[in-house]
Amino acid sequence: MAISAHTKLTAVIGNPIGHSLSPLLHNEIFVREDVDAVMLAFQNPSIAELVQAIRALPIHLTAITLPHKESVIPLLDEVDKKALEIGSVNTIINTGGKLKGFNTDVVGIAVALKDTALKGKSVLIFGAGGAARAVAYHMKECGAKIHSYDRTFKKAQILCEKFGGTALALDALGGTQFDVIVNASPVGLHPNDGDTPVPKEMIRKGGLVFDLVYNPLETRLMREAVERGAQAISGLTMLVEQALEQERLWLGREIGNAPYYVLLERELNKQHK
Ligand code: NAP
Repeated sequence: MAISAHTKLTAVIGNPIGHSLSPLLHNEIFVREDVDAVMLAFQNPSIAELVQAIRALPIHLTAITLPHKESVIPLLDEVDKKALEIGSVNTIINTGGKLKGFNTDVVGIAVALKDTALKGKSVLIFGAGGAARAVAYHMKECGAKIHSYDRTFKKAQILCEKFGGTALALDALGGTQFDVIVNASPVGLHPNDGDTPVPKEMIRKGGLVFDLVYNPLETRLMREAVERGAQAISGLTMLVEQALEQERLWLGREIGNAPYYVLLERELNKQHK
């Protein structure tokens, strides 16, 4: 659809923003779904200025990335209950000037883990930032036994106070095996492809590893999981599914099946050539 004076502006905001795959993905959704909208990326260290722009332009749908997912909360008119509990907003829907915040990361996590029985399972969540809290929310909902590790021990403690579970110090981590290991930290993220959050020996045969990192598509953690006889799930599923949920919230309807995974895989492979 050609851009015209009627085309609606949507955005992804963060600082930095150059790595974001959201414009590629959302603009493809607009083409396939025949939506007269465009997504652009905006970088600004000030969330207050970005929210001012959302109101002024207006920006109809906003995807939010680091470091603004928490600091945006007090600037909104309303925040969805789930997003408030997680303490992280990755989506703003602007309805006639009223800004409401949502967390669709948790939907992406639920879809990525939809075939995994989690009730009573011991889960290690590595990292205790915003994404980890969305993982913890889902694990609590599913009745899993949460173990949280972060290099800042206090953050692991805060996560456990909120969602239940045990905060582990580094020495308590060694030698323990978990049914599920979730990497919710940037460890292993490109260009640090050689890094991995946990020693290979910690991965249980028949267990599951879910790496929120999607660049590279196959992390060292995922490779070692397969070598140990465990299942490995990449962050790509979460990335695509949280974006589809953003569009569902904005458009108020279902989004058709399309090769969005292939689109992003192709883009990530291109970046690594
Ligand atoms: P965040 O809020 O910055 O949290 C990251 C956490 O990891 C922080 O608590 C940080 O601790 C901790 N950490 C960093 N390096 C560590 C290390 N070496 N050992 C232990 N803990 C460490 O970031 P986030 O938004 O939660 O994102 C976390 C990861 O998930 C990133 O890799 C991001 O790309 C990925 N993610 C993926 C998706 C997706 O759709 N697939 C969506 C969101 C996020 P400190 O505070 O001490 O630094």
